Amino acid sequence: MEKQHDVVIVGGGLVGSSLAIALESSGLDVAFVEAAPAGELPPVFDERNLSFAETTCQALARLGIWQHLRSASPIRRIHTTRRGDFGKVVMAAREYGREAFGHVVTASDFGQALETRIAQVGNLQRYRPARFVGSWLAANGLRQLEIESGGERQRVQARLLVGADGMQSAVRQALGIAAEQYDYQQVLFVCRVRTSRPPDGTAWERLGEHGPTALLPRLDRHYGLVHGVAADEADTVAALDEAAWLTRLQEAFGWRAGRFLASGARSRYPMLRVVAERLMAPRAVLLGNAAQSIHPLGAQGFNLGLRDALTLVEEIGRHGLDTPQLLETYAERRRQDRERTLSFSDGMAKISANPGLGVSLMRSIGMGILANTPGLRGQLAAGGMGYRGDLPELCREVMQ
Ligand SMILES: Cc1cc2nc3c(=O)[nH]c(=O)nc-3n(C[C@H](O)[C@H](O)[C@H](O)COP(=O)(O)OP(=O)(O)OC[C@H]3O[C@@H](n4cnc5c(N)ncnc54)[C@H](O)[C@@H]3O)c2cc1C
Repeated sequence: MEKQHDVVIVGGGLVGSSLAIALESSGLDVAFVEAAPAGELPPVFDERNLSFAETTCQALARLGIWQHLRSASPIRRIHTTRRGDFGKVVMAAREYGREAFGHVVTASDFGQALETRIAQVGNLQRYRPARFVGSWLAANGLRQLEIESGGERQRVQARLLVGADGMQSAVRQALGIAAEQYDYQQVLFVCRVRTSRPPDGTAWERLGEHGPTALLPRLDRHYGLVHGVAADEADTVAALDEAAWLTRLQEAFGWRAGRFLASGARSRYPMLRVVAERLMAPRAVLLGNAAQSIHPLGAQGFNLGLRDALTLVEEIGRHGLDTPQLLETYAERRRQDRERTLSFSDGMAKISANPGLGVSLMRSIGMGILANTPGLRGQLAAGGMGYRGDLPELCREVMQ
């Protein structure tokens, strides 16, 4: 007998796991399919530092995930400059009546917190390790999935298939949904660094021709570093010894955080934007990176993916699983947030990378205007905190 579930989530990464937890109170029979073995965190839960917007922190607390994090470092100030341009933009959370704009969490710590919380979820079948290999509509109108584990193939049916399987989504391909792809020709290096001036809650972002050099505050007296380099230079940078690497960072970032003293192991990520042309197919929907993978400048990827997941849960509660209205209203509700976040992160990545003199002048003027116009800064801050589009209930501010 083929197994049947109400919802099958492919991908137990950041968004898929959050969705499984958010569906806990729906009373539905939910399953998730994850390629990484049980007891092992999927590789995406690595040492990257994630900055979570205020709306994300609120939702994670309400889902009972936040309480399991070992550490989360508040971002109280954001300081942005562009190498070679005039001006800076400094935003303080206090100006907006807040303690913090959001918090910095390492992906590995977040993965542990999700695992702990997910272990408490009943009504959840885990196919793990198992790889999604294909899907089609069955004769009874439900979604048929084929999954593979240890060389054996198995078929499962779902009333709704959710593709949360990341940038190279096999679900997206199986549904025949095309994706537009853009290569920024940049590689981001990520590691932990120590400098002579320990973190004070400031997130520093120095934009450059080949991406940002950013320092995110952590609670262990280190910073989470991101350093963008041209793709054709990445192998040379990866081969640098620690002293040469620290000298490079000092040159790229300057002295605002003091002297760069030590660095942890570096990981690297090629920068691609992959945007699905549609979010849905009959009885199937794409969420998170499977729907849109964006440049990390602006730190919006997971924040956006979580809002995808929570909106879907709300729409399931409203419409149930068996009407096309479910996915139509879902896609409509996600439109504005998705478009605005995509154009914000893409625009920032492209404009900040442009070395032209005219563009540099425009950017300097833009920075000046932004620095002196509280209303504009306020809009930017609200977007950064996740207040975009039709927000799901769990992300909304609690009115005192
Ligand atoms: C350097 C860097 C810094 C970032 N910083 C931030 C930040 O500060 N803030 C922020 O919000 N976002 C940030 N992001 C983006 C964030 O990491 C992504 O948005 C997030 O990981 C997307 O989650 P997801 O669950 O959609 O996909 P993923 O996290 O990629 O998870 C996909 C899951 O699907 C599984 N899978 C894949 N294929 C299959 C298959 N065929 N069968 C079964 N399972 C499968 C994988 O094992 C994985 O567990 C950053 C990204 C990078 C690279």
